[in-house]
Amino acid sequence: MPYIMEPQQLSDAVELIDVQGWKSPRTTGVLLVRGSDTAIVETGHTSCAPRILSELEKRKIPMEEIRYVYVTHRHGDHCGGATPLEEKLPEAVVAGHKYALATLHNPERLNAGARELFGSFAEDIIPLPPTAATEELKGGEVIDLGRGVEIEVVSTPGHTSDHLAYFERKSRTLYTGDAAGLLGPQRYTVLPTAFPPSFKYSIYQASLETLREYKPEFLVFSHFGVATGPEVERTFNRALETLDMWRDTIVNAWQGAAPETAALNAVRERFLHEIEVFPHESRTSIIQVLAKGFSRSLYPDQK
Ligand SMILES: [Zn+2]
Repeated sequence: MPYIMEPQQLSDAVELIDVQGWKSPRTTGVLLVRGSDTAIVETGHTSCAPRILSELEKRKIPMEEIRYVYVTHRHGDHCGGATPLEEKLPEAVVAGHKYALATLHNPERLNAGARELFGSFAEDIIPLPPTAATEELKGGEVIDLGRGVEIEVVSTPGHTSDHLAYFERKSRTLYTGDAAGLLGPQRYTVLPTAFPPSFKYSIYQASLETLREYKPEFLVFSHFGVATGPEVERTFNRALETLDMWRDTIVNAWQGAAPETAALNAVRERFLHEIEVFPHESRTSIIQVLAKGFSRSLYPDQK
């Protein structure tokens, strides 16, 4: 079972749930982690929260049992569900990097940027009330959920400066958020999550190396799916090779009177067919956005 592309139980304690972010199946996955306390790792978009709550109901998990809602970073397709979840989960603490929490409290700027990038696919983050229970994480913390289930927080900047990944030690499940790339469900391509303006090429690359050192048994991508066993190392290799190919494609195309346009076209021509997640009608614009984020990281003076 080299790749897992359907929602399912990964171990005794860890389950992958499809929250249908981007209003599409198999586009955004989150984890339900159960020791004697229960944690939700990542929330998907605002509209994904009812789906998570109904999955809890189906499993007869009382709302009071959820102690943590972890978010990987400030983007709305990862942390947007935290506000509606926090409303319904009386004992839950929303935990993430301080910048992710600050964005949840004051999302206006990020919402405007997301609308500009994604148009009708964007979903606003609803502000998290100041009274909500939150916990700032930096990376390095270990949270004991009981029954031998422990979550280690891993600092993984590069996609954004506030990115954290979460490693469940007992099952060796590594939830990577956007730090390892976008996993294609058919050919298992791994594209860099090079969204502007936050993507930083060499920092992202270093975080990928950090994640690889964990040697996980289950390597979970938010968008979407899980590499397991021998495919874990191969998937890391593919992610790193693809990162180099994007860099070379942009550097080689960067010439003439409009170098950025030339570079964006070159990336689109070479890699559009490799984007296998997100709704079909948005893939051309997403590859364009990723190419721009990547080239701005290499040529930051371009405006
Ligand atoms: Zn993101």
